[in-house]
Amino acid sequence: VTSPDDRALSRFLADVERRSSDLEILTGDDCVRRYSDPFRLRSLGDGTVAAVRPSGGTAIQDIVRSANEHGVPLWPISRGENLGYGGSASFGDAAVILDLSRMNRILAVNVEDAFCLVEPGVSFVDMHDHLQRHDLPLWLSVPGYGLGSMVGNALERGVGNSPYGDHASQICGLEVVLGDGELVRTGMGALSGSGMWQRQRAALGPRYDELFVQSGYGVVTKMGLWLMPQPEASAAIEIELSDRDGLGGLVETLTSLKRQAYIQDSPVIASFLTMAALRSVRSDWSDERRALNLEESRRLRDALGLGWWNARTRLYGPVDMVELCLGHVEKALRPFADSGVRVSRWRRGEPIENAHRGIPSGGGLANAQWCGEGGAHVDLAVALPLSGAEAMRHALRVMDLLESVGVDYHSAFYLRERHMLNIVQLLFDRNDTAMCEAVEAAYKMLIIDASMRGYGVTRAPAHFRADAMAVFDFADHALSRMGARIKAALDPGAILSPGKDGFPAEIRPIGSLPTAR
Ligand SMILES: Cc1cc2nc3c(=O)[nH]c(=O)nc-3n(C[C@H](O)[C@H](O)[C@H](O)COP(=O)(O)OP(=O)(O)OC[C@H]3O[C@@H](n4cnc5c(N)ncnc54)[C@H](O)[C@@H]3O)c2cc1C
Repeated sequence: VTSPDDRALSRFLADVERRSSDLEILTGDDCVRRYSDPFRLRSLGDGTVAAVRPSGGTAIQDIVRSANEHGVPLWPISRGENLGYGGSASFGDAAVILDLSRMNRILAVNVEDAFCLVEPGVSFVDMHDHLQRHDLPLWLSVPGYGLGSMVGNALERGVGNSPYGDHASQICGLEVVLGDGELVRTGMGALSGSGMWQRQRAALGPRYDELFVQSGYGVVTKMGLWLMPQPEASAAIEIELSDRDGLGGLVETLTSLKRQAYIQDSPVIASFLTMAALRSVRSDWSDERRALNLEESRRLRDALGLGWWNARTRLYGPVDMVELCLGHVEKALRPFADSGVRVSRWRRGEPIENAHRGIPSGGGLANAQWCGEGGAHVDLAVALPLSGAEAMRHALRVMDLLESVGVDYHSAFYLRERHMLNIVQLLFDRNDTAMCEAVEAAYKMLIIDASMRGYGVTRAPAHFRADAMAVFDFADHALSRMGARIKAALDPGAILSPGKDGFPAEIRPIGSLPTAR
C-alpha cells in the first residue's frame, strides 16, 4: 500500500492489527476476489480495497474507534450474501469491509418463549442444523437463498415464507456498536442482566431496534429474533392461473382469506418466469435480444406446466383448525386453479422433511443463470396496497417498462397484513455492457414510475438507494434530513456504511477523507 491516497488506510490497518490479537486482514486481489459483488452491473463501480475479519470481543469497538481516528470508513457485513442487493461489496470503493462472519455463535435458543440470540455470522443453515441436531420444536423462516446470515437478512428487511416471514419485524433486542465506538443494547437489554431482552421490544421510550434496520447507524454485534413454535399441523396449497389478467381477482381472494385468518402466512403469487428461471435458461426459449414475446412465453409455460401466475400459501395450527381453514381456502381458490388445487398436509409425528417449513439452501441461485454464464440480477421491492386492481395496474406498468428496454418480467407479490410487496428481479448478462446500462436505466425508471403512483421502494441495492430515497419528498425531503441528523448524532465521523442510507451526500474515496479528528 504505497500511494498517498492509501496512507490513512495503511495506518488504520496497522493500528487495528496492533490492537487486536485475533484479526484477519485482506487486501489487494484477495480482497477484491472475495468481496466484489458477483452480480455487479458493469456500469457501476466496485473496488473494495481491504477487509478486516474480527473474531469478536471488544475488537469491533476498537476497529470503529480506529476508523474514526484515521478517517477510514467501514462497511459492516454479516455473511455478505446479499446477492441481488449489492452482495458483500461496499458502495463504490469508499470503505473497508468489516466482515463479521467469524462471529458465528448461537448464544441462546429458548424453546418455551420461542426466540434466539445470535451473532452476525450465524447463517440460516447454522440455525437450521442447530434446531435439527437438538431436536428443538422451533421453525425458522428462511429466504429463497438461504446461505446468508439471520442478522444481515433481517437488517435488510429480508423476507421468508412463514407467518414469521417479515424478518425485520421478528427482531427483539440488539447489541450495537455506534459510529463513535460506543456499545449499546436496545430495549430491555439496557437493563443489565435482564432476562427480558428477547421478550419485550421496548424499554421506556421508543423501540430502537428499527433504527438499525437498513440505516448504517451502527454495527450490530448481537440480535434477538423470534422463531416460530412448531405447530401441530401444517398444509400447503398451490395453484396455477393461466390468465394473466386474472391477477386482480386472485389477489382480492387471497387477501380476503388472509383477513379472515384462514391463511397464516404471506401468500406468494409469482410470474411464470420466476419459476422458469429455476428450471431452464433463457436460450431454451429465445435467442432474441428483447423481452420474451407472447408466443415464446406460451411455449415455455406449456412445456414447464406453469401458469401465468403461480400462487402458494401455507396454513399452520391445530389439526382441526388447519382442516377447517383448508376447506375454505381450497373452495375459494378453485375458480383460479386451472390445473386443480394441489394440497399437501403434515402432522406432528410425521417425517419433518414433509412439514411446510423453510429448509435453507443455495438452490435459488440457479435463476441467476437465466441469461447464461454471466447471468446475474438486481432486485427491487415496492410496497403496494392490498388491491387487486392496483396489483394488475402495477404488473402491467412494470411489464411495459421492462419490455421497452428488452428485459424479461420476473416478479412476485407477497401478500402481507396491510400491504403487498412486489419484488421484481431484473436478470441480465453482466458481460453485456449495453444490457447492464439498460438494466440500470430500467431500475431507475421503475423507482420513479412507482413513486408517481404513490408507491415507494422498501429494499434496493446501495447504488440505487439515493434514487429510491429521493422520491420521499414530503415537506422538502424532511424524512431524509431527519435521517441525516440521526446519522450525524450516532456516527459523527460518517464512518459507517457510506452511501447506504441513500441520503444525498458526497461519497469520498478513502484517501480524501479528513484524517484524525
Ligand atoms: C436467488 C436468490 C434468491 C433470494 N431470495 C431472497 C428471499 O427470498 N428473501 C430475502 O430476503 N432475500 C433473498 N435474496 C437476497 C439475499 O441473498 C438474502 O437477503 C441474504 O440473506 C442476504 O445476505 P446476508 O444475510 O449474508 O447479509 P449481508 O450481506 O451480510 O448484509 C446485508 C447488508 O446489511 C448490512 N449489515 C449486515 N450485517 C450488518 C451488521 N452486523 N451491522 C450493520 N449492518 C449490517 C450491510 O449494509 C450489508 O451490506 C435472494 C438472493 C438470491 C440470489
